[in-house]
Amino acid sequence: MAEKLQAPRGTFDVLPDNAALRTQLIDQIAGPLFAQAGYGRIDTPIFEDTALFARGVGESTDIVSKEMYTFTDQGDRSQTLRPEGTAPVCRAYVEHGMHKLPQPVKLWYEGPFFRQEAPQAGRYRQFFQIGAEALGSDDPALDAESIVLAARLLDGAGVTGARLRIGSLGSGPERAAYSAALKTYLRAHESELSHDVAARIDLNPLRAFDAKHEGTQAVMANAPRLLESISAEDREHFDEVLALLDAANVEYEVDTTLVRGLDYYTRTLFEFTSDKLGAQSGVGGGGRYDGLVEMLGGPATPGIGWAAGIERILAAAEAEAPQAQHPAAYIALDEGADRAAAFALLLKLREVHGLAAQIELAGRSMKGQLKAASRVGAKSLVIFGGGRGQYDAAVKNLTTGEQIELDGLTAGDYYDRIAERVLAGIKV
Ligand code: ATP
Ligand code: MG
Repeated sequence: MAEKLQAPRGTFDVLPDNAALRTQLIDQIAGPLFAQAGYGRIDTPIFEDTALFARGVGESTDIVSKEMYTFTDQGDRSQTLRPEGTAPVCRAYVEHGMHKLPQPVKLWYEGPFFRQEAPQAGRYRQFFQIGAEALGSDDPALDAESIVLAARLLDGAGVTGARLRIGSLGSGPERAAYSAALKTYLRAHESELSHDVAARIDLNPLRAFDAKHEGTQAVMANAPRLLESISAEDREHFDEVLALLDAANVEYEVDTTLVRGLDYYTRTLFEFTSDKLGAQSGVGGGGRYDGLVEMLGGPATPGIGWAAGIERILAAAEAEAPQAQHPAAYIALDEGADRAAAFALLLKLREVHGLAAQIELAGRSMKGQLKAASRVGAKSLVIFGGGRGQYDAAVKNLTTGEQIELDGLTAGDYYDRIAERVLAGIKV
């Protein structure tokens, strides 16, 4: 026997029930929310120049240093399967001169992302995110609007009890001064830190707040806090964001230790978690990235955005698959039935009458066909007769059991008479 082939480690197939849940989340819940808020859909390529992520996400991050799927193409260019969506959206903003449009420009996306991490529950190598980015304004109301959208999306998806933590990373000289002070503090405690954190004191000292290592956590409990040293202007910005969240009835906790895995964040930073998810508790998160567009070669442009994991939203919501569409008619074929006539009726029901209709395709006995019709939840059964002198076709209303027999397969209005019976059957 040939070797069994399986989906690659950390990936999964989306089967119809789950696909229906995803479509519902995106088309019925997220799409209308974004449209109402003036967000337009954007789709960027699945792969990009590696340099985009190296620059836009940051060399010191886990994503860039160890999680990217990078390959060299036939033109000897280094390409990377996108691990996140913000850098590509900013690249597109610059490439298409969107700074000339009325600002802010609001964009949302949804699709697969790739990170070579250790697969476990809620953590995959190909996963799906839904995300929103708003570029061209640093108004705190834009931060609040963005966060409220994420909160409403989780509500709409049925994620109850999600926790929102929010902080501010500040900006400018205060942030640089804080970073220097934190490095000094970390160096003074270097022997108590995990190797990983100790090795990255210079590169990315903030990540020490994120460490799972006990010794590091003990050191960080007394570390200076960024939120206490941000500028008055950044503090005012942050307070305004909080006031607007209060006005929107969005509950949050201010967290002075919040850091996230991407280098580009400034000012507002937030994360949604759910205790229904076990170790991988992050449902979504984001923040402001006022320096990113410029770093990618565009004009100085502030921005704010977030991304949420679709698998984690669905897991936290424990949503049930929406009911599959019940066909209005199931066309059964008796022995010797006029198959061409049956097929023509099938298409007519779908294309002229706009009905969901199915036809027997597995050569089952009449009893088997009846069973199949009820299994798919058909409302009526159209039986094409075998021309044994009884009737040409019969329409049985599967709700009431009533059966009408029709003759005259050659008559011009024959299909319409069947369709009329089928339509009557749906109304019951
Ligand atoms: P985590 O802390 O779980 O590693 P993260 O901080 O790396 O998450 P982001 O880069 O902010 O996550 O991505 C936003 C969201 O995308 C996360 O909150 C999570 O819901 C989802 N996500 C991230 N990585 C994965 C993954 N490997 N598998 C499934 N979902 C993921
Ligand atoms: Mg991660």
